[in-house]
Amino acid sequence: MTRVLILGSGIAGCSAALAAAENGAEVVLATKATRPAETTTHWAQGGIAVSRGDPDAFAADVLDAGDGRCDPHAVETLVENADDAVEAVLVERLGVPFADDYGREAAHSADRIRHVGAETGRHILAPFLAHLDDHPRVTVHADTAALELLTDEGRVRGALLDGPDGSKTAELADATVLATGGVGACFPRSTNPDTATGDGLAMAARAGADLADLAYVQFHPTATVGDDPVLVSEAVRGAGAVLRNADGERFMPAVHEDAELAPRDVVARAVADERERTGGVVLDTTPVDFASAFPALRERVSDAGHDPDSIPVAPAEHFLCGGVAVNDRGRTSLDRLYAVGEVSRTGVHGANRLASTSLLEGLVWGRRAGRDAATRERVTGDPEIPSHPERDPALPDGFVDGKFERLRRVLGEHVGLRRDPDGLGRACAALRRLKGETDAYARTRPSREVAELRNAATAGLLLARAAREAEPAGCHALEGVPCR
Ligand SMILES: Cc1cc2nc3c(=O)[nH]c(=O)nc-3n(C[C@H](O)[C@H](O)[C@H](O)COP(=O)(O)OP(=O)(O)OC[C@H]3O[C@@H](n4cnc5c(N)ncnc54)[C@H](O)[C@@H]3O)c2cc1C
Repeated sequence: MTRVLILGSGIAGCSAALAAAENGAEVVLATKATRPAETTTHWAQGGIAVSRGDPDAFAADVLDAGDGRCDPHAVETLVENADDAVEAVLVERLGVPFADDYGREAAHSADRIRHVGAETGRHILAPFLAHLDDHPRVTVHADTAALELLTDEGRVRGALLDGPDGSKTAELADATVLATGGVGACFPRSTNPDTATGDGLAMAARAGADLADLAYVQFHPTATVGDDPVLVSEAVRGAGAVLRNADGERFMPAVHEDAELAPRDVVARAVADERERTGGVVLDTTPVDFASAFPALRERVSDAGHDPDSIPVAPAEHFLCGGVAVNDRGRTSLDRLYAVGEVSRTGVHGANRLASTSLLEGLVWGRRAGRDAATRERVTGDPEIPSHPERDPALPDGFVDGKFERLRRVLGEHVGLRRDPDGLGRACAALRRLKGETDAYARTRPSREVAELRNAATAGLLLARAAREAEPAGCHALEGVPCR
């Protein structure tokens, strides 16, 4: 029986695991999450887009949002498979209790978003994990992190896993699927959970896989101010909420014809500009029946100490559009390595992601990659297992936190919403130094926290380098260079 190793338990990993198991493979799913909340999927709010029988209109919106950088074939794959994937997996198999109405979010030309209030992610993930737990061909290892991919003559053969007690296991597989999510924890302000340390990106890069579009980091325009932002979904603006500057003026109509529902990169830059010019921006939710339309979100905003009628907002890192380059079945440039979900670059998002398409991308590509992986023939031979002798004394208290703080400061200052060539050059130099230091520590201290720090430093350097080389488009804007 083909053995498939999945790394990550968000929508993409779950979707790949289900498809591989249903196509006859024996599946091992390892995730460093101990609770669903340690995935980004759990926090997804607005919902999952479907085509509602009009894939051409849906494709046109995805392409427009991507600012000329999408791969049209990938977009076609997404929209053509959307309705069937949502219906077959989420509705029929998992019984996700979607609302009867369809939501609208920024840059969508139609109401096409399936949602469960503004808490769609948790209502998808909980039944998905329960279903996999009960599946006879799936074994789930929680609190288990992949530290490194195992390779043999250019072919990926599994991963070195770090278990809940710190023990290391070489998990061999005929196909390995990266579903490790994004890079939010590398930034000072992000909507992502702390587990988003860019592990899959860094492991794939070290193994030699091709990466693409890493310059395109999406910042969400409406996250609450402060260090621990709460995302206020675009669905709230879709329902009628408006943005006002510190003088109480609505400014988006003068920036874009779609006003508050312009593409995310446009709204995020406008919010940052108005904050700078007038001292603050709020999301005015009084045109919406916020309490009955989004009760849980209203409560979270309130609990975080903000006025839910007039929510102070600022952009925060939200999503990585690029990643490990894959084809329409999730295959990477390395034999037997797949990547799905936010860690991958399918070509769907181009330079800017359309709202509510990333759950869909994870679902669709997870399914396609899982099916494909299950058909691979068995592999024999033993890869080299890296030995990680624990030679050095424990790290001083605060070492990892201190380095993370430095990493976040550099990325926040130079690789954020606003970038300029000099700043990107300085960021590359600082991140190269940080990566060098963390590589040295990781060689002799194979702990999970050092591995995460090393991965975050590697991911940070890859992002900064890509931003230095990329043409401005979508969410990669350079200071002084006109953008759309
Ligand atoms: C607040 C918020 C709201 C959002 N709302 C929406 C929305 O409404 N619609 C939409 O389409 N998108 C939304 N998004 C984006 C979307 O949620 C994510 O892009 C998507 O869920 C990513 O899914 P994933 O499976 O790729 O990754 P994740 O869900 O992040 O899962 C990654 C998994 O990998 C595990 N992992 C990481 N590293 C390792 C390792 N080394 N070893 C083992 N396991 C590892 C993690 O623990 C986790 O289980 C939102 C994002 C945020 C933050």
